[in-house]
Amino acid sequence: MKIVAFHHNGQPGVGIVSADLQQIEPFDMPLAQREGGALALIERQARGEPLPGALPAIALADVHITAPLPRPRRNIFCVGKNYFAHAREFAGSGFDSSAQSGGEIPAEPIIFTKVPESVVGPGAAIEMPAASSAIDYEAELTIVIGRGGKGILAKDALAHVWGYTIINDVTARDWQSRHQQWHLGKSFDTFCPMGPWLVSADECDGTNTGVRCYVNGELRQNASTRDFIFDIPKLIETISAGITLYPGDLIATGTPVGVGIGFKPPKYLKSGDVVRVEIDGIGILENPVR
Ligand code: MG
Repeated sequence: MKIVAFHHNGQPGVGIVSADLQQIEPFDMPLAQREGGALALIERQARGEPLPGALPAIALADVHITAPLPRPRRNIFCVGKNYFAHAREFAGSGFDSSAQSGGEIPAEPIIFTKVPESVVGPGAAIEMPAASSAIDYEAELTIVIGRGGKGILAKDALAHVWGYTIINDVTARDWQSRHQQWHLGKSFDTFCPMGPWLVSADECDGTNTGVRCYVNGELRQNASTRDFIFDIPKLIETISAGITLYPGDLIATGTPVGVGIGFKPPKYLKSGDVVRVEIDGIGILENPVR
């Protein structure tokens, strides 16, 4: 099941995308719930309640797709350095303030967050900030939590996964390095493109999933989640050990090798670029840089 959030005739809607990606069956939901994208649906399912009824189908081509969770209830959890090849690339770039303390492959997951207000939808511009010109892309498979919980053990963790989406963890590298904690450089306005929809866990496995990123058609990242340092159960166990997870929480699982600072000289994003992230079983998230 793919759940998409959209605007149609000026009104927010949420619906299921047909298997051929041509149609949407909108849910019959109150406006306040539709404005929250898929969140109310995930919460209903977490409570064991059925999904709402459907309205007449509309063509996918007739809507403007928005982020599936346009304003997450709180910060998006993110994992730093979670692919072996990228961890080596980042440590060798000179921008990795965390590498100085413990080598290039982390012994435990590195977790940081992005503010909810950094989220934008498919097609929305990644805005070049005045404060930095070292802007980089990071294609990431992102976990959507279904049933919440605390102290979730790795062996039980997949039962708490509603499904997956795509996030581009856009980063100001100079801020990430200079301020040591990554929060500022990861949370600039528009630095969290998300979409194009949520895919339920039965349609995307996450253990051997292809993740690719193109900039202006040039393939920059091309990896499989087989290269994860910490798998999805380990990430959920780690985060939920002390923090209660709630339905709709998001965990971006880290990015593979091939980011802009991995090149010499670095290939930073610039105005006019188009960043396209593809993840197998989910779809395509494309955003221009302005
Ligand atoms: Mg990242």
